[in-house]
Amino acid sequence: MKEYAIYPFQTMNITQNWNQGNHINHWKQSTNYSDKPWDEAGKDINQDFFIPQNDFIVEEVLGINSNITNSVRLKSINKLYIPYKKDPDYLYLTLTHMNEENLKHISEGQIIKKGSTILLEGKDGIATGNHFHITANLGKYYGLLKNSNNAWCFTYDKSLLPEEAFYIEKSFTNIINSQGSNFIDVPKEINIIGVPVEKNSLKNQIETTKSVKCYKNPNLDSEVIGNVKEGFYNYTEKIDDGTFIWYNIGVGYILYQNEFINIYPKNKKEEEKDSNSKFYKKLFTIITYWIKKILNIYSELKK
Ligand SMILES: [Zn+2]
Repeated sequence: MKEYAIYPFQTMNITQNWNQGNHINHWKQSTNYSDKPWDEAGKDINQDFFIPQNDFIVEEVLGINSNITNSVRLKSINKLYIPYKKDPDYLYLTLTHMNEENLKHISEGQIIKKGSTILLEGKDGIATGNHFHITANLGKYYGLLKNSNNAWCFTYDKSLLPEEAFYIEKSFTNIINSQGSNFIDVPKEINIIGVPVEKNSLKNQIETTKSVKCYKNPNLDSEVIGNVKEGFYNYTEKIDDGTFIWYNIGVGYILYQNEFINIYPKNKKEEEKDSNSKFYKKLFTIITYWIKKILNIYSELKK
């Protein structure tokens, strides 16, 4: 199963994007270092948590008892699928401005599991309100470096825009303001389940001429466990609930739809014919066996 990088806040309220305000100095006409930060303020009522939707490890904690703005650098535990590129890769995040008290609970090497709520936004440094200043990156880390525009940049091989780094899971994140960034919904993975069988008139079979959904239970509100490929499947049960007709193919239930589904109940006559021919075959085998045996006895006697 692919693991997608999911936006790690319950409320998206970007107050300053990478191409706005003092973030422009982080990259525009910089002759050396750059990053593409954005500010996430969350709900803006009290403080919001960073709630990772993937597992991360803390690579560095910066700012405790120092004049560097409080920050953490994180690396995803797994390679993640991100909108920016086709192949999965490690995603590196930096979060800045959390409160000192909060930051003290974080240490290098710590695993921050998906769904944990330990990193709280704050207003350390020059921040005016509670928010996280975030960068998302790929590749090697070179340091927190001051660029030719006097902006401090978390410098990696590649700095990603927020919509390049994260997909949105709408059931988790409520978007209040994306500040012009067009995020993509997380792709829904569909499992391909069931193995088509040979056409066989001696079995109850259902043929799908198109990939169709397979449900856990014979009911439209039931969980979709996957799609079955086109082909023949044996069914063990037919359920007519008055509105829909369902077929149990072992791994789950298929809803009858006349456009793409053909039903082939097992052919009783063929079955009889088949059992008749089986009977004659058996009889033939027995007769030839005895003829051979008699012939053998006969030849023995002749000796
Ligand atoms: Zn910022």
